[in-house]
Amino acid sequence: MGCINFSEKKIFKSLIEKTKLQTIRVVKDNEPRFNVGNILKAYWNQRSAESIFCKKCSTPLRKIILSNTKCDFCGSSDFINKFLGEIEITSVRIIFIKKTLNKTRNTSDDFKYSIKMNRNPMSFAEIERLAIADGFESSYDFFSFFDNHYDLRESKMFAIYNFKWL
Ligand SMILES: [Zn+2]
Repeated sequence: MGCINFSEKKIFKSLIEKTKLQTIRVVKDNEPRFNVGNILKAYWNQRSAESIFCKKCSTPLRKIILSNTKCDFCGSSDFINKFLGEIEITSVRIIFIKKTLNKTRNTSDDFKYSIKMNRNPMSFAEIERLAIADGFESSYDFFSFFDNHYDLRESKMFAIYNFKWL
């Protein structure tokens, strides 16, 4: 059985609550890594030496100085294992994300982002929905994440994987 790893703090809550039903992953060599029907083990920070994390703030156990079994960062006494559960891929859709210089005046943003699906640009509302479905609070957070992790100056291929928790 394959594995899928999550490590972005901004989407931690949506994983814990299992409201996250979608993940967007870069596609290498034009071949999506997962197919419909694949069953995967989902992990939080799979490669971490720690296996237990604070359920509220996602801090690994080694960093937490446990005082009366409470997380010293946030006070929570809820902890989770890094194995979150199994998921099944239910759909795979291809998108292209690109960053361009923003030529619009009267804005402080230097760049703007676009997403194309089936060669059609997604509307702002569609992108906002996609970002929220992915566990981010807004398309702003969504694009910050992808811009930090990938070079988007060239149009880059990603797969939107929808899944269900088993
Ligand atoms: Zn905590």
